Amino acid sequence: MQYRQMPKGTDKLSALGFGCMRLPTRFGGPSSTAIDKEKAAKLIRGAIDQGINYLDTAWPYHMGASESFLGSSVLPDGYREKVFVATKLPCFMIRKAEAMQSTFDKQLAKLNVDYIDYYLAHSLDGATWAAMKELGIIPFMDKIKAEGKVRHMGFSFHGKKEDFVAIVDAYPWDFVQVQFNIIDEHFQAGIEGIEYAAKKGMGVIVMEPMRGGTLVGKIPAEVRRIYDAADIRRSAADWAFRWIYNNPNVTVVLSGMNTKEQVDENIRVASEAMPNGMSDKELSVINAVKDTYHRLLTVGCTGCAYCMPCPAGIDIPAAFKSLNDYHMFGKAGARFNHLRFAGVSTADGRAHWTSSCINCGKCEKKCPQGILVRETFKKVQKDLETPAIKAVAGIGRALMGKKKDK
Ligand code: SF4
Ligand code: SF4
Repeated sequence: MQYRQMPKGTDKLSALGFGCMRLPTRFGGPSSTAIDKEKAAKLIRGAIDQGINYLDTAWPYHMGASESFLGSSVLPDGYREKVFVATKLPCFMIRKAEAMQSTFDKQLAKLNVDYIDYYLAHSLDGATWAAMKELGIIPFMDKIKAEGKVRHMGFSFHGKKEDFVAIVDAYPWDFVQVQFNIIDEHFQAGIEGIEYAAKKGMGVIVMEPMRGGTLVGKIPAEVRRIYDAADIRRSAADWAFRWIYNNPNVTVVLSGMNTKEQVDENIRVASEAMPNGMSDKELSVINAVKDTYHRLLTVGCTGCAYCMPCPAGIDIPAAFKSLNDYHMFGKAGARFNHLRFAGVSTADGRAHWTSSCINCGKCEKKCPQGILVRETFKKVQKDLETPAIKAVAGIGRALMGKKKDK
């Protein structure tokens, strides 16, 4: 494993960190609390045994179950001492000053730890930062650090570049967590924000390196052709990770791994890919891939599920994944998946088409990508929720003895 030095302090962090928001579940995905504890603990402990020493979680991951799972199933038996634990103050839930302390105390209890190595104000943008300052987050952060309950203070960011700079300048942060991948090079904080934070002596943790899985797995044929034509044979994940590690300002890259094969592959790449290690020829492959993706993506959803739950029962990330699949990989498979997950195999046995949206707008307030969910639903409806598809789903539900569409 490659380790990178935190600019402040003495910690050497594994270049690959384990993101605990997409753990193996018994059913459902990141929006499920049903973590498969045995499988997930084996996976994470195995990764730690291979050198990963940074675990990233947060209050809302797996709808509140991720922190407790780490506290009960991963950190005992001496594993606490082998890792740096990162979690986040859920700023979007904090309405009163006292809630910061009570939430933090609950997180210590859920994680079953006396201190947190890396604590972040979660998902800041300009407005959230202004509200948190008003509630007294700065003295609160000073306090928990002075008490030794937090070793490093940082923030994760989903906002505009100019707000990023203002927040970086507003507090002596130790580190920051930003979204960065081959598609989002200039999005939100972007490469410019990463450079700015590094110049201020902050560690940089990268999230969404695979953009919620968009950059791996079943990638578009045009992208596949570019990788296949390259002199070096690598998986899409290898290329995408390697490009991020190439940036010398990046300290850790988080990956939400859920199979041993992913862990092994990602550790191999993290062990090999050094800062400024890519040649001009390799970078030209990545540039061609970037250009192709920008042409093909319909909606910039990362699948993070921050917008969930939806009061109308709509699986928003699944609908957007189907929409992107429809435009990148072909119509039939995307339509079938949408029919299945929105129209037939739902938790309550009813269809939850995007057309059942009650227009509350809650999802848009929570979406870190600033996606206009309701507007984008119009495309889902046009491409994936035709009367014929709804009729087929209705037949499917009837055959399976499920409830009628409302
Ligand atoms: S606006 Fe529609 S999709 Fe968004 S949370 Fe409300 S009901 Fe769900
Ligand atoms: S719509 Fe936004 S919040 Fe919801 S999954 Fe996609 S990126 Fe995440």
